[in-house]
Amino acid sequence: MRRYSVFSIAREAMRYHQGWERAWRSPEPKAEYDVIVVGAGGHGLATAYYLAKNHGVKNVAVLEKGWLGGGNTGRNTTIIRSNYLQDPSVAIFEKARSLYEDLSQQLNFNIMFSPRGVLMLAQTEHELRAYRRAEHANRLQGIETEMVSTARVKELCPILETGGPRYPVLGGLWQARGGTARHDAVAWGYARAASDLGVDIIQQCEVTGIDTAGGKVRGVQTSRGAIRCKKLAIVVAGHSGVLAEMAGFRLPVESVALQALVSEPIKPVIDIVVMANTVHGYMSQSDKGELVIGGGADGFNNYTQRGSFQHIEETVSALVETFPIISRLKMLRQWGGIVDMTGDRSPIIGRTPVDGIFVNCGWGTGGFKAIPGSGWAMAETVAKGTPDALAGPFGLDRFVEGRMIDESVAAAVAH
Ligand SMILES: Cc1cc2nc3c(=O)[nH]c(=O)nc-3n(C[C@H](O)[C@H](O)[C@H](O)COP(=O)(O)OP(=O)(O)OC[C@H]3O[C@@H](n4cnc5c(N)ncnc54)[C@H](O)[C@@H]3O)c2cc1C
Repeated sequence: MRRYSVFSIAREAMRYHQGWERAWRSPEPKAEYDVIVVGAGGHGLATAYYLAKNHGVKNVAVLEKGWLGGGNTGRNTTIIRSNYLQDPSVAIFEKARSLYEDLSQQLNFNIMFSPRGVLMLAQTEHELRAYRRAEHANRLQGIETEMVSTARVKELCPILETGGPRYPVLGGLWQARGGTARHDAVAWGYARAASDLGVDIIQQCEVTGIDTAGGKVRGVQTSRGAIRCKKLAIVVAGHSGVLAEMAGFRLPVESVALQALVSEPIKPVIDIVVMANTVHGYMSQSDKGELVIGGGADGFNNYTQRGSFQHIEETVSALVETFPIISRLKMLRQWGGIVDMTGDRSPIIGRTPVDGIFVNCGWGTGGFKAIPGSGWAMAETVAKGTPDALAGPFGLDRFVEGRMIDESVAAAVAH
């Protein structure tokens, strides 16, 4: 595949952009692969890419029932940060954040990583104490975060109302190297680079059954026929429970819809990401000028990939309280994605009860930021057959042993 560069842009500009090749191949499925990855979201594509790049495992197919990046990866609000509380979480999220820093160069695809800084507002005494605790933990873990005063919050984001009557801003947890990236570009970049290394990405190919014999995986049934494989990686976010059921085991995950919306585009008003977890609204501004707003998750399990009126109302009223200047903005569109939540709000990466089947799920409302680190760890786990150091703590066995990695209370919200 030809490299993208300033010269290729100039060359194509001279010939009316007629010479660009397709970004990835669309091959017919082969009869057998060494590894099949189910799910062409960011995590599945990154797994396939690092399998090929880091471990030389190139006889790999990524099977996607829709179009690649069409799941949560293309529906999220793109917040990237690593200031979690527990050591295993910080290790994998920081690995991901640091990989994001030069991912555009690594993939030769502009993923538009923007380390603009993420500010988490403390609006109750409890939140203030929790963030101070996170700041101390992060210092021990070598992660650069700092508690900032209300005055500094106002400096970082002048449109914020810090003296609100219900929840005045008492301070904030600031990660200057956090930020955002273009979500589709992350999927497209990994797809293109993986395809270039020989990975077959097969879209419109739904996995409808999993073949096992003697406790070992043999292959999958798909809407395009049966395909054999030596190893199977299930990386399907909100549909993880459905795939696990096909293989005959259960996962401790629940699926719920999580929603987001964007406003009409306006001139630049906010150049950082702000998370107001108490009132429950998150906001950043896209390059097009739209305010990108993260809302709440449904309070009941479902597989509905769409938004709802009550979430718009809740989220927008919370944000108007925090950012009064947006009160007269029109909202342009809303949507939902199906996220997979574990009890401790930490992911699951590792082996399953069926030999040769590996799972990567449970990223819930916060897995976009983890894509590079998760793919890196999952690839090593699949290639070697045992979890690597990053993935080790996140195995399914923690639910049997009661060894939870509790990020739910610590994070207040899991983005
Ligand atoms: C509204 C919203 C906002 C969010 N905001 C943030 C945020 O700001 N920051 C953050 O870090 N995270 C955020 N997240 C979470 C993040 O988007 C997810 O954790 C992450 O994208 C999960 O990626 P994935 O690759 O595991 O799953 P997905 O991108 O959902 O990919 C899974 C793929 O599997 C495919 N699939 C399912 N079943 C089958 C089958 N039977 N056969 C073949 N293919 C199948 C699906 O079609 C899908 O394409 C948000 C999520 C949502 C919904």
